[in-house]
Amino acid sequence: MTARGGGRARGADVEAGAMIVHEDIPIDDLVRVRRHLHRQPELSMVEFETARFVEAELAKLNLDEVRTGIGQTGVLGTLRGGKPGPVTLLRADMDALPIAELVDAPYRSERAGIMHACGHDGHVSILLAAARTLAERRAEVPGTLVFCFQPGEEGSAGNRLMIEDGALENPHVDRTFALHLYSQLDVGKIGVRDGAFFASADEWFLTISGKGGHGAMPQMSIDPIVAGSYFVTMLQTIVSREVAPKDPAVFTVGKFESGTTFNVIPDKATLMGTVRCFDPDVRKAMPERMERILRGLCEAMRVEYELKYHWSYPPTVNNRDMNDLVREVGRATLGAGNVVEHDIVMWAEDMSFMQERRPGAYFIVGARGGPETGFPHHNARFDIDERALQVGYKMMVALGLRG
Ligand SMILES: [Zn+2]
Ligand SMILES: [Zn+2]
Repeated sequence: MTARGGGRARGADVEAGAMIVHEDIPIDDLVRVRRHLHRQPELSMVEFETARFVEAELAKLNLDEVRTGIGQTGVLGTLRGGKPGPVTLLRADMDALPIAELVDAPYRSERAGIMHACGHDGHVSILLAAARTLAERRAEVPGTLVFCFQPGEEGSAGNRLMIEDGALENPHVDRTFALHLYSQLDVGKIGVRDGAFFASADEWFLTISGKGGHGAMPQMSIDPIVAGSYFVTMLQTIVSREVAPKDPAVFTVGKFESGTTFNVIPDKATLMGTVRCFDPDVRKAMPERMERILRGLCEAMRVEYELKYHWSYPPTVNNRDMNDLVREVGRATLGAGNVVEHDIVMWAEDMSFMQERRPGAYFIVGARGGPETGFPHHNARFDIDERALQVGYKMMVALGLRG
């Protein structure tokens, strides 16, 4: 395939015919904006310059409305189309990560210790270019489009903050579409999945209290280390014995801290961990299951406990009808062979909050062109094959034109 101007083809060539290139794709803009943002990454919830950049770009488009400061730094652009139809929200996240970039490229991060290592720079570039094209083709647009530029995806639940600031109202959003560049899928392809695509991510914090004493006289103490150790193994029986094997779930104890030296039984043990699920009902039941095991542990081992459970991101669940639109548009735009039914992805996404409230489809866009663009997300060498920007752009434009 050919790329004009700044379009960079890294790694292996995409098979002939794998991508259909039209001359009107703004390849230069896609690459220029992505690289600009890549040089100037900003962390979650402080995307002030990125938001100003987005605002300035949207101001050139003659949109009906641009709302800023939504969920702190979020930006919403509204475009009323020339034909009747639903209100469709198209979303891009904007934040970068606290990672020191190791990619040796002219567009590498100019901010020490901060890097676009998840591809959100590409998401913003794609949505800005799509907004420009859709604004030019306003007469063909069915219904109303809301271009949503979201802060704080990487752990700050910026999506929920935008909802709390009214992002799904005025106009009332009927449906949503979102994409993520993905370094584990070849460029030219998109991946779709019905139902839960990405996991939920919740955290828990546990203190087990016993009674400290001499290591040689355990009968005078209540040992929180032994109790905590039983708990770690009992916890795993939730997944192995209580959740159906078809429902993926993970309990990980990431921290277990207790004691000071070899001959002292400590007073307390503190543990923390994460829980990942795909089924919303399985997820909902997890804290009660933990409590039940802990109550039994207290009875059996004389300890006391305090559990704090923090609900973080729900699973990202795709609506079948919205997904069928993505499939249909993908086949028409990219060719049938480039729309793949994809396995679950074990990351979590805060777009799940909007998709809990409105029917939505979240798909992944292949960004791997070779070994250089095959590093995992959140890796210091993460990079994308920039031809993926064209794929994302074509999908967002086509979805914006689909009633
Ligand atoms: Zn990420
Ligand atoms: Zn991401």
